[in-house]
Amino acid sequence: MRITVIGTGYLGAVHAAGMAAFGHDVLGVDVDAAKIERLAHGVAPFYEPGFPDLLRENLDAGRLRFSTSLEEAAAFGDVHFICVGTPQKPGSTSADMKFVDAVIEGMAPHLLRPCLIVGKSTVPVGTAARLTEMVARLSPAGEQAQVAWNPEFLREGFAVNDTLHPDRLVVGVASADAEATLRQVYATILEEGTPYVATDVATAELVKVSANAFLATKISFINAISEVCEAVGADIVPLATALGHDARIGNRFLAPGVGFGGGCLPKDIRAFLARAEELGIDEALGFLRNVDAINVNRRHSAVNLARGMLGGSLKDKRIAILGAAFKPNSDDIRDSPALSVANALQSQGAQVRVHDPEAIENARAAHPLLNYTSEVHKAFEGAQLAVHLTEWQEYRDLDPLHLATLVTTPHILDARNALDIDHWRAAGWTVRAMGRPAR
Ligand code: NAD
Repeated sequence: MRITVIGTGYLGAVHAAGMAAFGHDVLGVDVDAAKIERLAHGVAPFYEPGFPDLLRENLDAGRLRFSTSLEEAAAFGDVHFICVGTPQKPGSTSADMKFVDAVIEGMAPHLLRPCLIVGKSTVPVGTAARLTEMVARLSPAGEQAQVAWNPEFLREGFAVNDTLHPDRLVVGVASADAEATLRQVYATILEEGTPYVATDVATAELVKVSANAFLATKISFINAISEVCEAVGADIVPLATALGHDARIGNRFLAPGVGFGGGCLPKDIRAFLARAEELGIDEALGFLRNVDAINVNRRHSAVNLARGMLGGSLKDKRIAILGAAFKPNSDDIRDSPALSVANALQSQGAQVRVHDPEAIENARAAHPLLNYTSEVHKAFEGAQLAVHLTEWQEYRDLDPLHLATLVTTPHILDARNALDIDHWRAAGWTVRAMGRPAR
C-alpha cells in the first residue's frame, strides 16, 4: 500500500520505517527540514535502540522516502498517518492541537481521491469527529477522505519492537471500508495473532488516554505509599515487592522513586482532565489531579532529601547528577524528573554536573545553564553528593569502591531505587533512597 506518515518524531519516524518493513511504500513527512534530511540519509535524529538499522534497511530497499511537502504526501498516499506532537498548550493544561490542525489544513486541499487519514497522535476525545468535518469542508475528495483513529502504545527505548510486534492493535473507525483498509495495513501484525480491538473513533481516542491515566495512577499510588513509608520509617521496596506478588496488582509500573516524566504521561493526564472539564464531567477524573500532584511532589522530595544529606544547605555544594533523560534507553528529556531536580538543586545554590549516556545534547539545548559531562567519572570528581535520577544500566554497573576515591564525601541518593544499595554501603557510601529508611 502507499502510506504517508506525517510527523517523523519519536513515534512517526519509527512508524514510517516499521510500515516499510511490512512491505508498504512509505513517504515520511515533517516540517523540520533538518530532521528530514538526516532521515533521508539514514541518520536517526534521536536515540532509539535498533532504529538506525531499521531505517537504513528500508531506505536501501527503496520502500522508504522522506519529504517536507504535504502536497506530495496528499498525491502519494492512500493511507495518511498523523503522528505530529500534541504537547501541553502554553499557559493551560489542555493539549495543543495546532500541529494536528495544521496538517489537515495543509493537506486536505490537495486530497483529490478517496483516502484514509489515520490519527496516531494522542488527542482529546472528539478530535476525530472534528477533523472529519474539517476534511469534508477543505478537501476536493470531500467525504471520500475518511478519518480513523489508531492510538499508538509504543514505549521509547523499545519502540522498534513495539511497532513491529505491538501488544495490541486498536482501531477506531467510522465505516467497514476504513476497517478493511486498516486490516490490510496491519496484515503482518494480525497474522501473528496480535489482539485486535475495532471500535468507534471516540472509544479509540479514549483507550489511549485511559491507558496512560492508569499507568500514571499506578506509579503515583506507589509513590504516595512511599511518602507514608518515609513518615514512619518503613521501607517501600519490600512493600512494593510484596504488593506485586498479588497477580491482580502485578509488579510492573510499581517502582517507587522520583516519578514519571516524558512527552506523554504528564501532559496526557492533564489534557484528559482538561477535556473532562470541558465536558462538565471533571469530578469523575478528579483523582488525576492528585496523581499529578503526587508525581510533582516526588521531585521536591528528592531535592529535600538531597539537602538533608548535605547538612541542610545546598549552597556551593558539588553534586553529581546521574541521568538527564526521562527514562533509560532514550535521549528524550521532555518533562524529565532528572533535569527538574538538577535545576532545582542548582537554583538553590548547588553546583551540579549532569551526566547521561545519550541525552546530554538535548539537555544542553533545553537547559543551557546546567553543567554537563559525557564521562560519568568526571561527574563524581570532587562531588559531595551524587543523585541517581535515571535508571540506566551504566549506573547499576558503576564501581562504588573506585568512585569513593574520586568524591569529596561518599554520599549518594538513589531517587530511582535501582542501585544495589548494600553494595554501595559496603564500599563505604552513605546511601539514602526514596521511601527507604536511613541506615
Ligand atoms: P515529537 O515531538 O518527537 O514528533 C512530532 C513531529 O511532528 C516533529 O518532528 C515535528 O517537527 C513534526 N511536526 C509538527 N508539525 C508538523 C506539521 N504541520 N507537518 C508535519 N510534521 C509536523 O513527538 P512524538 O513523541 O513522536 O509524539 C507524537 C504524538 O504521538 C504525540 O501525540 C504523543 O503524545 C503521541 N505518542 C508518543 C509516544 C512516544 O513514546 N513518543 C507514544 C505514543 C503516543
